Amino acid sequence: MIPVLNLPVASKKKPWQIELSKAQISLKELLYFCELPMQDSLLEHSDFIIKATPNYLNCIVKGNINDPLLLQILPFKSENDLIEGYSNDPLLEKSQNPQAAIVHKYQNRILVVATGSCAIHCRYCFRRHFPYEENKHSKQQWIQTVDYLNKHQEVNEIIFSGGDPLSLSDASLKMMINDLEKIPTIKTIRFHSRIPVVLPSRIDADFESIFKQSTKHLVMVIHSNHANELNTEVKLACKTLKSNGFTLLNQSVILKNINNHADILAKLSERLFDCGVMPYYLHLLDQVHGSEHFSLPLNEVTLIYEQLQAKLSGYLVPKLAKEEPNHSNKTLIV
Ligand SMILES: *Cc1c(COP(=O)(O)O)cnc(C)c1O
Ligand code: SF4
Repeated sequence: MIPVLNLPVASKKKPWQIELSKAQISLKELLYFCELPMQDSLLEHSDFIIKATPNYLNCIVKGNINDPLLLQILPFKSENDLIEGYSNDPLLEKSQNPQAAIVHKYQNRILVVATGSCAIHCRYCFRRHFPYEENKHSKQQWIQTVDYLNKHQEVNEIIFSGGDPLSLSDASLKMMINDLEKIPTIKTIRFHSRIPVVLPSRIDADFESIFKQSTKHLVMVIHSNHANELNTEVKLACKTLKSNGFTLLNQSVILKNINNHADILAKLSERLFDCGVMPYYLHLLDQVHGSEHFSLPLNEVTLIYEQLQAKLSGYLVPKLAKEEPNHSNKTLIV
């Protein structure tokens, strides 16, 4: 018999990790991929680098500078303009940081920024200037978070946000989920993640196995802004999450030239429903520095929203909402 070689298990990267490692691209590469020429209005170098996964890039229609998916990741020089009313921390989250990596602005739920890393960089992101380096979640910080949860029994839900919490390794996720299982006051574990949309290969068998034994409510709020993002792979990932007990919700941001039309938003809701995802929030843009080119006047938004309501069954209409600094919940509009 051939002896079985007892080789150490090399840190073999999984398909999703390989995809993720390729997500950082230059403006030139992005334009080349999209079959577009360089333009004067585009920004070649930004601290907020360009990132997009192969799955997301493949959903972009080539040769169209106005593609709604491309526009979400394309940096314009105008991002550097200083505009009144736009700031680096529009929601004043820094002041709601009771300890590193936790935002406790809602009464019953805390937000944990477990990683600053995302699989895609959305130019409208309200955390694009968040001090992630200071908020990097170490093992030590996680221990403090568990401690915080044990002390604050009014907290019954933990929300993993980011950055994108699904960019964490399986080992980190597993460790955190196992610890949370031991805290009886925690009823719900929620994730806010764009990864099921931009990196559906992340939802693999190892990911599933982390949640198999969970006794908590599991909620995944995916973030999709346009039906074109939701291809067959995404649909499959959503179905897998659903079959593992996740309640699936979607949160979008209403963005100029991307989804500011009732037909586009209706199509998004219908496609989400195909994928087993319920529309949850349609969010107004947070006024973060560099995002002004996505903004819309409120009267335009409310008009689109009324048209949307007329097109869809009530349960497919997301709640129109905005986030306000120092408010304990989102503010609903109309
Ligand atoms: C709004 C929001 C939450 C929590 O709000 P709910 O009203 O409880 O859904 C958490 N994370 C993000 C990123 C949000 O935008
Ligand atoms: S936190 Fe969400 S919106 Fe911001 S860059 Fe990451 S994926 Fe995009």
